[in-house]
Amino acid sequence: MSLPSASVFVRCSCGHLHWGRYGAAGLLLVDPARGVLLQRRAWWVHHGRTWALPGGAIEAGETAVGAATREAFEEASVPAEAFRAVSASVVDHGDWSYTTVLALADGAEARVANTESAEVRWVDPDDVPGYPLHRDFAAAWPDLRDRVGRELVLVVDAANVVGSRPDGWWRDRHGAAERLRDRLAKLAEAGVPDPDDATVTWWPRIILVVEGQAKRVTSAAGVEVVAADTDGDSKIVEVVAQQTASVLVATADRELKRRVEALGASILGPGTLRRQLDEL
Ligand SMILES: [Zn+2]
Repeated sequence: MSLPSASVFVRCSCGHLHWGRYGAAGLLLVDPARGVLLQRRAWWVHHGRTWALPGGAIEAGETAVGAATREAFEEASVPAEAFRAVSASVVDHGDWSYTTVLALADGAEARVANTESAEVRWVDPDDVPGYPLHRDFAAAWPDLRDRVGRELVLVVDAANVVGSRPDGWWRDRHGAAERLRDRLAKLAEAGVPDPDDATVTWWPRIILVVEGQAKRVTSAAGVEVVAADTDGDSKIVEVVAQQTASVLVATADRELKRRVEALGASILGPGTLRRQLDEL
């Protein structure tokens, strides 16, 4: 049995027609040197001739990131290897939703690749409101603008997080830190919810700070492991101080919390982090 086609209009309780049975997704590609990638829609598509993002209907069984990535290639010839997803936000109408995936471009080339797109252009974020924008993109832009160029770094106090659950970790501290690293690698792929905004997900860079018997744990895909020679807390403070992105520190250590908060970092409780890891 084939699944119903995603490519239909949905009559939404908001009073509008929207494209995509399973919702829709778009890619907001950010290149620090060139701006954001906008696409002018062909005259014959819904809201033709307006400027918006490459994007379209989410197919059955596809993730929003998968759909945004596929559409960016189909419409603007941007390959998946040319960018890294950093955050996503969902506008949920109940009957339909739209996910905007913000990604950092790494020298991506874009060009018109199919007939749904009339032109693609890198635009300075400050100039975006001056374009004739698609209604929904115009409404979403002020919130998106706030996240353009922003990244999240999650710094994990390995000893503190491992020690937060009495599961026998003291018998094998190295193994326990390795298991934490492997679960964090899955989290790096799945993303973490924004602590202040439930509609936003981040795909953070994750830095795991290890010490003592866990010192020889190595980095893995999505998780950079940093070893402290002597004092783990000072290493964490040093790592936090090096970051230019927003930083979230996973620890319950009161004194460490005070030190990293003084540097502008936010705190993620080990219990909250472990619940997120348990859900993966
Ligand atoms: Zn709607």
